[in-house]
Amino acid sequence: MPNRNVSTPRRRYAVPLAALLAALAPAGAAAQGALTPLPSAGAPLKVLDPAFIDQTANACVDFMQYANGAWLAHDTIPAAYSSSGVTRDMSDHNELVVRSVLDDAMAQRASQPAGSTPRKLGTFYASCMDSTAIEAAGLTPVRPWLRDIDGITSRSRLLAVIGALQVRGINLVFHYSPDIDPHDAAHYMVWLSQAGLGLPDRDYYTDSGPSADSTRTAYVEHVTRTFRLAGASATDATRGAHEVMRLETELAKASLTRLQQRDPAATDHPMTAAALAKLAPALSWPRYFRSIGLTVPVSRVNVAEPDFIRRVNALLRTAPLAQWRAYLRYHVVEESAPWLSTPFVREQFAFSSRFTGARELLPRWKRCLRETDGDLGEALGQAYVAKTFPPEARARAKAVIDDIRAAFGERLRHLAWMSDSTRAQALDKLTKMREKVGYPDRWRDYTRLVTEEGPFVLNVARANAFEWQRVVNRPGAAVDTTEWGITVPTVNAYYDPSRNEMVFPAGALVPQTFDASADDGANYGSLGGSWAGHELTHGFDDEGRHYDAAGNLRDWWTAPDSVHFNQQADVVARQFDGYLQVDTFHVNGKLTLGENIADFGGLLTGYDALEQALKRDGRPGLIDGYTPEQRFFISYAQSWRVHNRPERLRTRVTVDPHAPEQWRVDGPLSDIPAFAEAFGCRPGDPMVRTGDSIPHIW
Ligand SMILES: [Zn+2]
Repeated sequence: MPNRNVSTPRRRYAVPLAALLAALAPAGAAAQGALTPLPSAGAPLKVLDPAFIDQTANACVDFMQYANGAWLAHDTIPAAYSSSGVTRDMSDHNELVVRSVLDDAMAQRASQPAGSTPRKLGTFYASCMDSTAIEAAGLTPVRPWLRDIDGITSRSRLLAVIGALQVRGINLVFHYSPDIDPHDAAHYMVWLSQAGLGLPDRDYYTDSGPSADSTRTAYVEHVTRTFRLAGASATDATRGAHEVMRLETELAKASLTRLQQRDPAATDHPMTAAALAKLAPALSWPRYFRSIGLTVPVSRVNVAEPDFIRRVNALLRTAPLAQWRAYLRYHVVEESAPWLSTPFVREQFAFSSRFTGARELLPRWKRCLRETDGDLGEALGQAYVAKTFPPEARARAKAVIDDIRAAFGERLRHLAWMSDSTRAQALDKLTKMREKVGYPDRWRDYTRLVTEEGPFVLNVARANAFEWQRVVNRPGAAVDTTEWGITVPTVNAYYDPSRNEMVFPAGALVPQTFDASADDGANYGSLGGSWAGHELTHGFDDEGRHYDAAGNLRDWWTAPDSVHFNQQADVVARQFDGYLQVDTFHVNGKLTLGENIADFGGLLTGYDALEQALKRDGRPGLIDGYTPEQRFFISYAQSWRVHNRPERLRTRVTVDPHAPEQWRVDGPLSDIPAFAEAFGCRPGDPMVRTGDSIPHIW
């Protein structure tokens, strides 16, 4: 999970974004030769590790280098990864715990009652680890799906096959999701959104220049090779690959950019079923809904991108059926590839490494573990919690998060630029913001899930179908407020504006994020600033501020307050536009705006909470030679300790709403006078910005 602290404004991004992040995470390369390990290498993680500090660096010139330079100088990214650092270290720790759970479940499955969740879990993981059977089967398990595609000889058949494949988890054409109604956040409604691309973003299809050209050429070659592996002749494979590219380019041109999607109004198009039928008459919507198992009456639909659905309508009517068959065939093979025999796995990995930089596949157990966590996460989450997360840990983490909440409330009460009417609503939103810490209070019921001894790719399809059936008929129903959007062992957190809640799984609440035995300076810098303060501020960033306390999309701001906010947000965007990301690419200040506002607000709030805690509990003396304030900022910077491969940084320019970690540290810290004071930095130093270049938001 490279992009921790992802905010998930709408769950509808879950499928494509999760696939992309999964592709980015196990990437990597660029060995720098043999490096001597740090003296502390292999030791347990700490919230703040003084051994990582580069004592030769100047904290007022480049604080990221100062706080992490000694670690960076000794780090080599493992071949199977696109980055190393905090996230990988914490994931490694969590994965060892999860592995022991899965190994036990696999070994004991035969003795578990038939139909029990432990047996399903063990069977699922075992079928993934059974490489002998997987190699022997080749493409056989998904051949029936390919035969269904070959059987598309009429346009009426086309949509039914698309629906059936979507239920099995294949990302095709557009995305159906039962998600929260933007104007009635207590209920679900039907969402239809853009989807169906094979490259990581629509920009890869539309950008010009040699780099974009070479990516498109490489993609067509990859699709060609995939068709060849699936048995096509050289001529058919090449022709099919060009058909795929043509169809996807049409979809990409009609898709909104990531930047456009940041504006909630841009994806807010509720309409009646009759209006939907008029928007896209070539799609027989009742027939489509039946094909995906949607049986409740559909009265209202949010079409997130109407132009996109209009284009799909036209393509369903006019694109040659042979083109559609090629497109569907490719996506079935490509998305099954990680779970088929070695030639498929290798081809898929080789192409994805173009975006990640990974040189080697992760070991099989890690790939199987991640897929099991993704598909049956709450079945293994209970065992993970029992092994690693006692109730005391949950209580202590909650106490820090509640301090952050209180500190943000104080800031709101004293903001000079905000009117009393906006302030009252902001405070109401803060009071009503829910928090989920550690693990769900109610675990998912897997009674209806089926897993079988046999080809793993079919178990993945069964798990996808189980999840689909679990939620497909939600439109109109009351929102399940107990549900979690990520699993317990995940090293990540999120804020969801439609639910007005922040979520911190147990997997993220271990050192280096948080250690109940560590000092306040260290804990408030990492868990306080970098995690809790950050997620909380998402409720009030350029996107989150458009939602009210109940999660409804509603403008609760006075006009002058909105003007002030936007002006100051522009200051943040300009600041980050000025930073270099990789090669000659700059950070996209507007794409990363929400995250940068959240980092800035999180730091200010975390710092206030630390000062309150010191007043309450007393000031300790120097620890490792640092004051509590210095430890706060070092701990924050170390929470972003990372070493990226250039391929990963290049992909992130296009797809990632988070700026590179270098700037998530040096950017906001250079806007904070308390930082300059803590390290004796003066105007003119690179880490000190002054005057109007400092944003005044939270
Ligand atoms: Zn975030």
